[in-house]
Amino acid sequence: MERISIEGAAAALLARLSPLPGRESVPLSALPGRVLAEDVSARLDVPPFDRSPLDGYALRSADLAGAGPGAPALLRVAGTVYAGGTFPGAVGPGEAVRIMTGAPIPAGADCVVRQEDTDGGREQVRVYSSLHAGQNLCLRGEDVTAGALLFRRGERMDWTHIPALAGQGVTEVAVFPLPRAAVLSNGDELVSPGAALGPGQIYDSNGPMLAARLASLHARPLLLPGGTDDPGVLARRLAGDLEKCDLAVTTGGVSVGEHDYLLRAAELLGAEVLFHGVAAKPGSPALAFLVGGKPVVALSGNPFAAAAMFEVLARPALERLAGAAHPLPRRLGAVLRGEIGKPSPVRRLVRARLEGGEVHVAPQGHSSGMALGLAGCNCLIDLPAGTPALSGGAAVEVILL
Ligand code: AMP
Ligand code: MG
Repeated sequence: MERISIEGAAAALLARLSPLPGRESVPLSALPGRVLAEDVSARLDVPPFDRSPLDGYALRSADLAGAGPGAPALLRVAGTVYAGGTFPGAVGPGEAVRIMTGAPIPAGADCVVRQEDTDGGREQVRVYSSLHAGQNLCLRGEDVTAGALLFRRGERMDWTHIPALAGQGVTEVAVFPLPRAAVLSNGDELVSPGAALGPGQIYDSNGPMLAARLASLHARPLLLPGGTDDPGVLARRLAGDLEKCDLAVTTGGVSVGEHDYLLRAAELLGAEVLFHGVAAKPGSPALAFLVGGKPVVALSGNPFAAAAMFEVLARPALERLAGAAHPLPRRLGAVLRGEIGKPSPVRRLVRARLEGGEVHVAPQGHSSGMALGLAGCNCLIDLPAGTPALSGGAAVEVILL
């Protein structure tokens, strides 16, 4: 198969996937991380009444004409209104009502003078400034108007969305189910962390990494014990895993080595191969196929290759299943700090850390088999094919992790 671009590969997956069926109703406390399954519109004006944004006196601006520091206006205090209460009457000419922050503006008043600009009087009050109508009023519906669209289907919620929803009196919201993702590391050399390491063996770094990454993306990972380099066993395990899950991410066994059996397993399953080989490094042998409509994204076993291709291939697939309206990772322009000494004849993803618009290349080893340099990274620098060695100050594009 021809090597496909990263964009083409992601598009091939997205074209075949839809948001998971089913809806869940979750309380606001469990909403962060979830994707809205329905548009949410406002039922109420917020605030639901005109209110005072400060402690002071509600009054008629006309009564303050000409008032100033040396020439206070003198008004009769007709009562007090607290937050949570209401003032029963109306503010007449020459009157003021003492008002606390959050209290409804009494009828008749058209402004609020702050307490600091008065003598704080209880029976009568001297006001040392003049105001115009509408000053210091927080108007009904100025935050949210009833009927307005608050958030759209496909938007992922976080804590910042909560006050607007709670302000509507909403307790539960309809969201898409969380995708369940099987993680399967392939390789006869792999041992799960915790077990003893024999000669020629290494610990499975990818399984725990991808399970953690999936959890951070609000999927429900199912970390499976390492798979063997045997196509029949792999095929059976994958079929079993996909019964319990909505997608599978595997690592290892996708290149052209003698024990690279993922493609063979896909064939045994009668899978529809979407692509095999992506025109970017590291992780170019990435493979994706559908088993009964469920996607399997099979990544190369080198930990950084698996991490990089997971972000640009598996993550969009996951986001689509999750119902997210924007499944592709975010990209930003940035200025390179430090240098990238090697030219990139093939498109290359380089792990890095973005801070304040500047992108710092991880100081540790860059080989795709090295995992330590990934620690603390928050982006991948996306170097197009044919990029020469770059020095500090170069403009680059990054993919946010
Ligand atoms: P493969 O993609 O199977 O050819 O593996 C490429 C390299 O990555 C080999 O050195 C493997 O031993 C190593 N590798 C494969 N899977 C993992 C894993 N789960 N954790 C750490 N290293 C791995
Ligand atoms: Mg292998």
